[in-house]
Amino acid sequence: MKFSEVLGNQQAVEQIRRMIDSDRLPHALLLYGDPGVPKLGLAMAAAQYLHCKNHVDGDSCGVCPLCRQHQSFNQVDTHYSFPFTNSKGDSSSPCDADDFMDEWRNFVTRYPVEDYQAWLGFLKNDNAQPQIFVREAESIMRKMTLSAYTAKYKVLIMWLPEKLKEEAANKLLKLIEEPYDDCKFILVSDNEKGILGTILSRCQRIELRRPSTPMVAQYLADRYGMDMQEALALAAPADGNVNMAERLVQTGSEFHEFRERFIELMRLSYQHDLAKLKSWSDVIADMKREKSRRFLAYAVRQVRENFFYNLHNPALNYLTREEEAFSTRFSPFINERNVEAIVAEIERASGDIAGNGNAKIVLFDLAIRTSILIRK
Ligand SMILES: [Zn+2]
Repeated sequence: MKFSEVLGNQQAVEQIRRMIDSDRLPHALLLYGDPGVPKLGLAMAAAQYLHCKNHVDGDSCGVCPLCRQHQSFNQVDTHYSFPFTNSKGDSSSPCDADDFMDEWRNFVTRYPVEDYQAWLGFLKNDNAQPQIFVREAESIMRKMTLSAYTAKYKVLIMWLPEKLKEEAANKLLKLIEEPYDDCKFILVSDNEKGILGTILSRCQRIELRRPSTPMVAQYLADRYGMDMQEALALAAPADGNVNMAERLVQTGSEFHEFRERFIELMRLSYQHDLAKLKSWSDVIADMKREKSRRFLAYAVRQVRENFFYNLHNPALNYLTREEEAFSTRFSPFINERNVEAIVAEIERASGDIAGNGNAKIVLFDLAIRTSILIRK
């Protein structure tokens, strides 16, 4: 992976590039940030840049033998460590990360932005908690004591050091504290507060921030061949969490259903058709609780989007084409007199459902209140 392929966090890219250019990459570097924020790609790009001998415009060349080895995850001086389950299904003997390299290669190839939930799917062992075990720590120590073979530095990229078992972390401490001159550790964490203090205190840290909505949208558009309007509408609710945005792409059918139900609520409310509003609330109440709450979160967003739509500033709106087709006619009914009241009612309903309120009553009540507010 090249720096130019890293999504967002260009300041951190620049910082790491300068460290490597001046041969001051710390022995232990921690890249951390919220789940769904791309981090692993930057660690890989850093390792590739560190090894590439033909830098081009401040990036690795992508074509020299070392870059090619990196790109196929076959670089002998670059090691990966990550949480896995203790047995690979057949026997109970613990394995090291090398035994999971096929799964790992498939995972990082198919998920340009690392996604822990997706990784669990690759491990195919639903019951066990993935961790970084003692035997893996011992394997890392063996690998890192060998001399670098193809380049000046060996690199270990460890994904999710917060999953290190305490015993395993203790084994690695000395190696991280007093490393061999040719060792570089790059740790990549979703939750730096979960890392043992003894490890954390030995790392130089760089926090990676959520990419902007247009950036995530561009990523979705490129990866799934979507047009930008659709991509922006899906990226907006994910708020910089790329994993969540990708899940929204995959559950697109749910959005279609939610859109229809939202339009129905608004039409029936405007018509003040209480009998049909009763049927509507029964349909939503019959959804599983979490799904009905996702629908209500969708409804909140649509109410706000329709309010903004009146301002005729496309930069403020993240609507799909279908949603927009409805908003062109409907948006005038959401105005400064009712927008916050409607949002508050929907959020209250969602809270009541979460608190085990009777969904049919809560939702019918919401429908009646909406039908009063929509006429204001
Ligand atoms: Zn190269």
